[in-house]
Parts: sequence; structure tokens; C-alpha cells
Amino acid sequence: MERAKFLLEEKDMPTRWYNIQADLPVPLPPYLHPGTKQPIGPADLAPLFAMELIKQEVSQERYIDIPEEVQEVYRLWRPTILHRAYRLEKALDTPAKIYYKYEGTSPPGSHKPNTAVAQAYYNKKEGIKRISTETGAGQWGSSLAFACNLFGIECKVYMVRISYNQKPYRRIMMETWGATCVPSPSPDTKAGRDMLAKDPDCPGSLGLAISEAVEDAVSRDDTHYSLGSVLNHVLMHQTIIGQEAMKQMEMAGDYPDIIVGCIGGGSNFAGMYLPFVKDKILGKKPNLRVINVEPESCPTVTKGLYAYDYGDVAGMAPIAKMFTLGHGFIPPPVHAGGLRYHGMAPIICHLHKLGFVEAQAVPQMATFEAGITFARAEGIISAPETNHAIRVTIDEALKCKKEGKSKVILLAHSGHGHFDMAAYEAYLSGKLQDYAYPEDMVKAALKELPEVSAEYK
Ligand SMILES: *Cc1c(COP(=O)(O)O)cnc(C)c1O
Repeated sequence: MERAKFLLEEKDMPTRWYNIQADLPVPLPPYLHPGTKQPIGPADLAPLFAMELIKQEVSQERYIDIPEEVQEVYRLWRPTILHRAYRLEKALDTPAKIYYKYEGTSPPGSHKPNTAVAQAYYNKKEGIKRISTETGAGQWGSSLAFACNLFGIECKVYMVRISYNQKPYRRIMMETWGATCVPSPSPDTKAGRDMLAKDPDCPGSLGLAISEAVEDAVSRDDTHYSLGSVLNHVLMHQTIIGQEAMKQMEMAGDYPDIIVGCIGGGSNFAGMYLPFVKDKILGKKPNLRVINVEPESCPTVTKGLYAYDYGDVAGMAPIAKMFTLGHGFIPPPVHAGGLRYHGMAPIICHLHKLGFVEAQAVPQMATFEAGITFARAEGIISAPETNHAIRVTIDEALKCKKEGKSKVILLAHSGHGHFDMAAYEAYLSGKLQDYAYPEDMVKAALKELPEVSAEYK
């Protein structure tokens, strides 16, 4: 009987995060200040982030030690399991070998606490009493609530209104871990009040909720802001996933031909693939394919522009060079709330530009179909976000079948869908629909990109 699970001992959990910046053949473009449009310095970011996190954001060190206190919390659920998806392979009748690394066993149910715990720890160490943040589907808010509680920090979460209404259980999780959660736009900030005046029924967006959380943090001395994705340090904290997976793939005696994952801001998937992409950059695995999967309704990398844009709607957050649909773009209300962001992690965009990774967009209906195939074969009911990655995994496995090739596919499984049963019900009862690419809305939003000087174009 061949092994279906690859388990690491706690003592084999990686003790350092991997920083891709040390191995990039071309350095990342700098962040620019939203006011001056000049490269941003540590002092500009100090009102928002712990100094250690600011250092990590620009660090060129290849490895950064994971503090003992953070490792101790990680051990509540890490190392996570690498599965061989024998039953899915059989259901698809494919010669492909499919592996998946499952992050759904963390207490909040996704990869997100890998960075939430680290961020809460550094803020605590630097004397911060309170953290503000935004959340889309609620996974990030619940992860930060979980982490803040462990380190005795107050947590205020601005939750995108449509999700707040659709997903009360995520809010209750946050409250169980002691956080406060309000729907965004909220009357608690100027950005929220301005939007409510314009459109009282505004469903909200991640970009707007970021504006609210940032405004909250800069208006109080005891408060910092925390971002659950996109930034370099967040992606770095997630590399614990890929480093574990590398050891586990070694145990399995395989190396992936294709790695597949979903990208919202890009953190779970980059965390999986950055340690592998290092091999590709160094020329050791030139044929490795890395497929970033996004929704057709929010096609940031496949249809967006590679340009400097604000990280938030109000234009208060730093300007980053990234693929963007425009900071004013509000995506259609698809169920994969975690994939509804107008921008993308600069590291992923940079690697895409350099040709080390690729991207695909998939429609909502096909992702649920794939999620149900996966649930019926492997048992796990996946998050709607993860279903995007499962769709492409299945497509690639079926391609192998057609071509009679036995490729090794590694799927980054970012979390369970236990709070997304309403979305599954909508699909199962035929009420779910596809949203076309909102070309006109993207065009309109792209007209409002910030002007930057020629040297940064
Ligand atoms: C938040 C989330 C995502 C998207 O965020 P990334 O930063 O792109 O990883 C994907 N899957 C799940 C389960 C999530 O909670």
C-alpha cells in the first residue's frame, strides 16, 4: 500500500522563513509614497507597522529566524500534512500524480494565521496595544483575532459589508476570540462615512476596508495596522508552507512538474511556491511550471495593467508596482471573497514579468464543480477560493490523461469551506452564476492610476 499522507515531526518544522528577495535576478521596484510619489522609507511606514516587519519588508537576507514564541504557536497545528490525492486521481482516471498540502487544519481554517501570529508577536514586542485590519470573506479577520488573542492585543476588524451579511459565522469567530468587527463602509472612519454618503447600500470592497483600517491605525498612537496578504513580509511568513512541502515531496520521492494555487493578494500560493521557484531561478528546475489561478470576475494578473497603483480605494496606502484593475475597481460579489482584490503581491507580479510564473483566470461555476469533485473524492469541502486552484489542478490532470503523461502536480490547498455552505447551496440548487469580465468597469478604474515620474514607469 502506497503512502497517502506525508507527515513531518514537530522537530522537523522549518525554523526560518525564506526571503525570495535574496535570490531575485532583478530587484523589486520600490514602494512609493502616496503623497510625494517618491520611494518610501521606514519612517513613512512606522505609524502603520512594527519596525521588525518594516525591516523584513525590504530585507535582502535569504533566511530570517522564526522567533521561538511564534514557533510555539505554529506547533498548535503545524507542520501541516501533505496528501497524495489517490482517490481524486482515480476519479479522474489520470496518470498524473496529484499532491496537496492542506492548510485547513489551523484553528481559523486557512493558511492566514501563519502571518497573523508573526505580526501580532512583533507588534506585542514593540509595545502596541491594538491592531486594526480589514477582512473580505472573514478568514483574515478571524485569523488576526485568533493571533491577537494569544498575545493579549485588542483587535478591530473592518469587514466588507457583503461578506459581513453573508457570513455571520466568521464575525462570531472573531468575537469568540475577543475581537470587534464592524461592516465596511462603517461610520467609524472618514473613508467609510464618505462612501456611505455617496452610496448608502455600498456592498464594500477590500480596497475600501483597507482605507478604513489604515485611517484607524494612523489616528491612534496605540494602534498599528495589519495586512493579511500582498506585502513582502506576509508572503515570507507563508514560506513555512513551501519549505515543509519541499521536505514532504522529498519523503514522497517526487518533485513537482506543476504547482497550482489560487491568488487573492497572493500570500498562500507564493508561500507555497517561492522555495520551489528558487530552484527555477537558479536553473536547477528550468521546466517547473507555476500556475497562479484567479477568478474571471477579478482577473488582476491576466487582464490588469502592470503599473504603480494605490493599495486602497482612498489612496492612503503606499503605491506599489503591480498588476492592477485600478484601485477604484469594485469586483462583482462572487463567493470567493478572498480573491476580490484589485491588486496583487508585487513579488508575484515581478516573477510573472520575469517569466518564472504564469497565470490563468477561471469562471465561478467551474470552480464549484471542481470543488464538489474534490469533496466527493478526497472528503474535504474546500473554500471557494481554493476551488479555483482545484479547477486548474483537475484540468491539468485531465490534460495528462489525454496526453498519456504522468506529471507530478502539487496543489496549494489554502483552507476549508465550512463557513461557505451557503455558496455551496447556491451552486447545488442551480442559483449560482458566472460573472463575465467587467471590462468597462476595469477601463474606468484604470483611468485613475496615480501619476508617477518617468523613472518609475
Ligand atoms: C484569504 C484566502 C485566500 C486568498 O488570499 P491569498 O493572500 O492570495 O492567499 C485563498 N484561500 C483562502 C482559504 C483564504 O482564506
